[in-house]
Amino acid sequence: MIERIPLRIDHFRYTDQGVILDGVMTREESVKDLLRLNEAILENSSDILYHLEFDVDFLGNRYVTGTVNTQVILQCQRCMGNFKLELSCDISTAFVRNESEQKQAEDSNYDTFWLSQREYLDPRVLIEDELILALLQIAMHPLSEIGKSCKAEVFFLETDSEQDESLNNVNSEQADDNPFAILKQLKK
Ligand SMILES: [Zn+2]
Repeated sequence: MIERIPLRIDHFRYTDQGVILDGVMTREESVKDLLRLNEAILENSSDILYHLEFDVDFLGNRYVTGTVNTQVILQCQRCMGNFKLELSCDISTAFVRNESEQKQAEDSNYDTFWLSQREYLDPRVLIEDELILALLQIAMHPLSEIGKSCKAEVFFLETDSEQDESLNNVNSEQADDNPFAILKQLKK
């Protein structure tokens, strides 16, 4: 069953009633509506599948659990080629409105999503947050793809003496970014 994602939900009602949202956000919809995600990737290469279950636990935490899955295209920062990344997120997030709710939610091992007293929730924001979190900090082909789909040149660590020699050629501007150069300065 494909259910259109609601654009605003009342998290009190959803968690009280144990609502389940199960559906697909099409590529076209995500391109149009998930602007923060679009900025972080080259393109979304598939629809976004979501399954979200709202509930209240015995401590009174109002939460949502579920999964979000899609595929995105990123640019490899090693070889600058494009690659496809599967994003698969497990969601376990409590809605919090103040610091005591936040503390209780964190003690119960939920991620937290801040809402003010009457604020409605756009579930697309929740989905987008999860996908952005799941993106790698530095987008790169997996190491196992070097020499295959990743066209990066591979540099092996040089022997100590060669490394010292090459460090002597590092100029001061590069030295700022070179962790080995900093280590060498600390040794002096
Ligand atoms: Zn690469």
